[in-house]
Parts: sequence; C-alpha cells; structure tokens
Amino acid sequence: MKKSVYMEEMDAFTYREKLAGNAVVFIPVGALEQHGSHMAMCVDAALTKSMAGATAQALQEKTGGAMQGIVSAPINYGYRSQQRSGGGFHLSGTTSLSGQTLILLARDIVFNIIVHGARKIVFMNGHYENYQFIFEGAELALEKARANGIDDVKIQLLSYWDFVDDETIARLYPDGFTGWDLEHAGVMETSLMLLFYPDLVDMDGIDADLYRDLPAKLPSYDVLPIIAGYTPASGCLSHPAGSSREKGVVLRDVAVRHMVEAVLNEFA
Ligand code: ZN
Ligand code: MN
Repeated sequence: MKKSVYMEEMDAFTYREKLAGNAVVFIPVGALEQHGSHMAMCVDAALTKSMAGATAQALQEKTGGAMQGIVSAPINYGYRSQQRSGGGFHLSGTTSLSGQTLILLARDIVFNIIVHGARKIVFMNGHYENYQFIFEGAELALEKARANGIDDVKIQLLSYWDFVDDETIARLYPDGFTGWDLEHAGVMETSLMLLFYPDLVDMDGIDADLYRDLPAKLPSYDVLPIIAGYTPASGCLSHPAGSSREKGVVLRDVAVRHMVEAVLNEFA
C-alpha cells in the first residue's frame, strides 16, 4: 500500500499509530455547488482536500517527520450557497445542507476523531458559507469531550484563501481584487483546479455571452425568497479569465506555507 496522508487511503493500524504519535488531523469541508459552465461542481470539496493534503505533507517535511499529518475524509456538502458568495442555493446542481445538519456533521466527526485519540485538529474550510457552522460544531464537540473527561483537545479553524498574502493578491490580480466572497469560480478556484484537477476544467466553457456582467454587482443585503435575476447568468461571481496552472502553483505554495506556520504556531 502506498504511503498517504489521506485517512481514506490508510489502513486502520497506521492511522492508530499516527494518532498515538499525536498527529494533526485536518478535516476538509467543502460543498457540492455549481461553478459555472467551465468547472465541475466538486470544486470546494476537491480543492480543500488537496490543500489539506499539501499542508499535511508540508508539515511533515518542515518538521522532519516529527509532526505527522492526517487528512480525514472531507465533508463534501456545505451550508446553503449564498447569492453573494456562491450564486445561491436555488441553482440546479448546488445541493446544500441546512445549518443544523452541518453543525451536527462537524460535531459528530470531530467527536469520533477525538475519542479515537486525536488531540490536534484543524478544520480547513473551502466554502465561504460554512465557517460559522463548523465553528459551532467544533465547540459542541469540545463540550462533549470535556463532559467525557477529555480536556486536552485543541481545534484550529481556518479557510485556506485567508493564507494568500496581500503581495500575492497584488501580483495575481493586477486589475484589482474584488474580495474572497466574489471569488466564486473566479481566478483563484479556476487556477487551483487547473493545477490539481485539470480534467475537471474546460476553459473553452467560458462563453463570452454567458460570462458577462462580471464581477457580479450584488446588493449589500440578502433577500428571501431569492431573486434569481440578481445572480449573473453564468453562476460565477467573478471572471475566470487569466486563470492558469502557474497561478495555481503560486496560490497553493503561498497558502500552504502560511498554513503550516499557523499550525506550528498552535500545535508545535
Ligand atoms: Zn467554490
Ligand atoms: Mn462555495
């Protein structure tokens, strides 16, 4: 069997051994969500899994193997896609969870991992809307752990794009950066997909007629029921033009480097 940081690709004995050695367990949280006509719908889950894998690997390398990393199976669905950060949950293909479901999923997964010995846990988020629900699930798992006499667990929560520094943003977005909320199916996600999953991107799918009115100009408020016309026709919130595998490498490397620093800052 190959050596892998992915829990799904690990035998249970190796997993137990790694947990006994106080490995850091990364839990990727994504979404199943439309990403225009140029990318598959797995983007948020697939990218987060890959970024967590690269971070776990880099952590092991940076510490000379002293700190091991494990990437759990990702949560492949996410909280309701919002019109102002994911196009909206009304769009076909976007298959969302309620906040309550995501909280309990996060809580149950973390609690199980804790019971089996994990003490260092990192929730890595890759779908803008998930964050507060994962936060709640993490806190509920900690409370449950404490009630069961386990009080030495630490959980770190982060979204991987927050580790792309300003210098890199200035370099990759020379015409100005619209913010991570509007980056849905834009240059960052498309470039990272071109790096990690080129087979799931079709740059010819960027049709000029369809990909108009980008970046999206949305109101500074939400409306329910959703007014479909507020979402650009493509379902993207910013234009993926100018995306490249090379930009994907830059984004991965800078985010992974800073995430390793953050993990070491809390767990070393
Ligand atoms: Zn996305
Ligand atoms: Mn998303």
